[in-house]
Amino acid sequence: MANDQQVADDQELDSLDALVSLCKRRGYIFQSSEIYGGLNGFWDYGPLGVELKNNVFDFWWDAVVRQREDVVGYDASIIMHPKVWEASGHLGNFYDMMVDCTECKRRYRTDHLMRDLGISELPKECPNCGGELSEPREFGLMFETFVGATKDSQSVAYLRPETAQAIFVNFRNVQMSTRMKVPFGIAQRGKAFRNEVTPRNFTFRSREFEQMEMEFFVHESEERQWFDYWREARMQWYLGLGIREERLRFREHDADELAHYARYTTDVEYQFPFGWQELEGICNRGSFDLSMHNKHSGKDQAYFDEARQEKYVPSVVEISAGLDRTVLTVLVDAFAVEQINGEERTVLRLAPHIAPRQVAVFPLSKKLGEQARKLADELQRRFNVLYDEQGSIGKRYRREDEVGTPFCVTFDFNSLDDGRATVRDRDTMEQERVALDALAEYLADKLAPR
Ligand code: ATP
Repeated sequence: MANDQQVADDQELDSLDALVSLCKRRGYIFQSSEIYGGLNGFWDYGPLGVELKNNVFDFWWDAVVRQREDVVGYDASIIMHPKVWEASGHLGNFYDMMVDCTECKRRYRTDHLMRDLGISELPKECPNCGGELSEPREFGLMFETFVGATKDSQSVAYLRPETAQAIFVNFRNVQMSTRMKVPFGIAQRGKAFRNEVTPRNFTFRSREFEQMEMEFFVHESEERQWFDYWREARMQWYLGLGIREERLRFREHDADELAHYARYTTDVEYQFPFGWQELEGICNRGSFDLSMHNKHSGKDQAYFDEARQEKYVPSVVEISAGLDRTVLTVLVDAFAVEQINGEERTVLRLAPHIAPRQVAVFPLSKKLGEQARKLADELQRRFNVLYDEQGSIGKRYRREDEVGTPFCVTFDFNSLDDGRATVRDRDTMEQERVALDALAEYLADKLAPR
């Protein structure tokens, strides 16, 4: 058995199954078009999922754009001139090799098949059923569409397979309008589309997904220094998301797996239940992209560096992360099932600053509903808050643990006299009495990124 899913060990596979079910049950992630049987490789984010996704993205934008003077943001259209993809090399190079089993009809990506079996030559037999495998063939990853009223070869366009090219073709516009000087970067978040051979492992490999990419333009002599800088910065960012350090690692690409544009690449990988897998590629693309667009468009992409008194086409250090993949990673990393006093507790230990619901407010009894709701309304101005008066306090705690709410605040009868409420910490389950007028500051401090 040899695909991504099958190499996982049972216990951890179970936990991915349990996570998938939690995501559906609690409104994180649903299968797209579920009532029609779903569409393989497409996913929807529910009310909690969209908050989590936005929080992860905001954390990225803050670190990569807002807190820096040398990176600016961008938001490009998804469909671009088809010549972009000719120049970038995607039309000629962007395919995967695949084989089909003639017996069980299972389809494999050849590189994944060899990687999972730990071999360097394609096997002749299907690892699933022993049937004969077909000859390898190319599988184009670009989704095609048509622009305008006619549907012919003249009107073919593509859904972008990466966001990066929009940044390259707008390099001169952005540089001249902002007067940024090399070294500087352009960042964007956006949808990308790949007709993947084998979408699988929940949202890990989807056909429609979002990327967070930043292209950092540098002088050729500084490629290595900036590459090392961003490599380290990116690892720190993942740690800042609260992901366990021992489940993160770097992996350098071997020469034979480098993309056609890459001089060298390091991936950030995470140890999923189905093995170590890429979260992000950090790549020295050299001046490949700008030079190709220079050639194909006939528009000069060179930059005049006043400090160096030199005109050149800059090199690019790229950081390219998957937003959906990062969301999946924080969910997998946060998910735990614990035994407490003979009872099972499912908890999502999301870092408080990315938790979709930050605070839940409970009245101990419905009789205290009015005061507790007033408190929830006040906190709602600053945080994402749920007010809940249904069920026992224990049940309400468990419901919030399962969606990862870091703090629950209970308003009880004593609160009427002492002006304090009980704050319960999701992870330690410890409880603390906090003065109502100091509560917002107390929570803001606990919810801030560490
Ligand atoms: P792979 O080898 O796994 O197909 P890749 O090396 O082609 O991935 P890149 O082109 O480097 O991926 O894309 C940058 C990032 O975009 C990846 O690190 C990943 O986080 C995300 N990404 C790429 N393809 C997908 C996908 N099909 N589904 C979800 N995220 C993806």
